Amino acid sequence: MRTSRAHQPLTYDVRLPDEAQADALRLLDASRAIINAALTLLWPSLDEFGTDRTGPAWKQVGKYMGSPQYHGDRQWRCESEVVGRVLRAQAERKKAFELVLPILSEGFMRPKTENRPAGKNPPAIKEAITTLQKSLEEDETSFVALQNVVEQCCNFFFQHDRFPSSYEELQPIPLLKVGLLTYAGDDGGAKGQAYRLTLDLDAGVAGFRFRYPDEAGVWHWRKVETIIPLPDCVKERLSHGELMAPTLREEHSTDGQRFAVLDFIIEVEKEALPAWENVERVLGVDWGVHSLLTATAVDEHNEQVGRPFFLDTGGFDGRQARTRRQIDELKKKVARYEQERDALPEEHSKRAWYAKMLALYRREIDRCWRKYEQRNRALAHLASNVLLLLCQVHGCSLLSMESLKTLKSTGRGKGVRGRWRNYRNNSTIRGEIWRLLRYKCHLLGLRFHTELPRGTSHTCPRCGEPAKTYRSPSDRSEAVKWGRWMYCEHCQYHGDRDYCASVNIARLGVAYLIQMKQMGKARSCSIADPRVKPVSYTGTGAVLLLPPTGNHPARNIRGKICYYPGWLGSAFLQSSHKKQVFLRLCG
Ligand SMILES: [Zn+2]
Repeated sequence: MRTSRAHQPLTYDVRLPDEAQADALRLLDASRAIINAALTLLWPSLDEFGTDRTGPAWKQVGKYMGSPQYHGDRQWRCESEVVGRVLRAQAERKKAFELVLPILSEGFMRPKTENRPAGKNPPAIKEAITTLQKSLEEDETSFVALQNVVEQCCNFFFQHDRFPSSYEELQPIPLLKVGLLTYAGDDGGAKGQAYRLTLDLDAGVAGFRFRYPDEAGVWHWRKVETIIPLPDCVKERLSHGELMAPTLREEHSTDGQRFAVLDFIIEVEKEALPAWENVERVLGVDWGVHSLLTATAVDEHNEQVGRPFFLDTGGFDGRQARTRRQIDELKKKVARYEQERDALPEEHSKRAWYAKMLALYRREIDRCWRKYEQRNRALAHLASNVLLLLCQVHGCSLLSMESLKTLKSTGRGKGVRGRWRNYRNNSTIRGEIWRLLRYKCHLLGLRFHTELPRGTSHTCPRCGEPAKTYRSPSDRSEAVKWGRWMYCEHCQYHGDRDYCASVNIARLGVAYLIQMKQMGKARSCSIADPRVKPVSYTGTGAVLLLPPTGNHPARNIRGKICYYPGWLGSAFLQSSHKKQVFLRLCG
């Protein structure tokens, strides 16, 4: 696969038609057994996969071993590609582990108290990783990688009452739990030796043939070509993208059924980024304390453009928390049944009943998790699309985003545990939104820049002086750090805290933009830097560059709130725009 800067791979999964399911699943089972055998054999050589990574992953695996069960050269190449990629990714994690090993401390854990169980201490973890990272000069993504490894180490601590001494102790061999087969890039087409894939864009279908083991374990080519109808989005992408080698994968439906999907990987050209001199407006985006996201547009003359936008997810958090509680209840039941079953003698007749019930509950847990994750993904897509739409309607070609390094609690949820859950889930969603935005910006040709949020919630966007936050506009007797309302003693300006922070993130973006325009290079400023100018807002320049109204499923407008189909009561967009304007904004 080309990894040039001008191209980007996009993946679309398409379920294989029923007639091919049984054979595809058998192929995936056979491949999984071989991949897992190879992973087990190569696990002791993990370090080699961190140092020498030239060339394709399958070639590297080939240096150490041949197939544990040979079903053709190309078949093994596909399997060893998976093995090599898993080991390379694990070797990267091992490097992260070696970085965090010296900083692991019991301070990362919070002891058990009366009303909450023992848990992790995120502020301590965050601070330690940030300090560690300053000495590394790594980028944003590695913070998430380091955090992920630290959390795994903490989980290990809860189980063993000590930290792991080596990566291999922390991480069991990462065997595949479900089937996955990455087809080799130089195979396929009309003459492939493991699979053939042809496209008929006029008819909107793909023809797929593959080698597989039959019920007796004998490998064949499938006699007939499986015709896969292509979804519209895939057809659209294929019309100006290039189809890469696909991946065959196993998935599970909500009722526990297995099925095989084919991932179509299409490499598309990225839009050219706009030249800095053509960038005139910046959309500042803040991860809110009260709403999930707040966005405000500011132009290069430090004038706010249009009104702010809030993405609130009130009902959503509640639904996610309920699903989590449901999962906890089910887990408790599973633990109790396991205990009761183990207390029975080996031959007891009631064991079969327990086995049946346990399988039932475990399926239910899986179903809940999938529902939970699907909702998160859907929300992340909604949020990133709304932000990109805002960029378009406000004419912003720079998206200035608050860095992911801040994990704010939303302060919602009942009790400490509820808040902790929202906090955890919010950080997951934020990571997902951040990832989606980054790649969608490339597709659309928007510049994307992250800013450290230090001080952005406690600085007046109108005069640039430090300001305090309070519980509400009327209650200013005592300043509180997480207060919802910002009040500036210096110029008497006051406003919603998240809104002020989003203007400040936009101000940081404008300061960056101006440096790029004047000097062709830039460094992110701190909020107190004199180059970060105050922003004024007169309401002029608020004319929106609205997109044409299209053909969308019905929305439901109540007052100033627009409900998207399927999102009733879970996420809503709020703005002070007039109803007509708002309706068009929402498509
Ligand atoms: Zn002020």
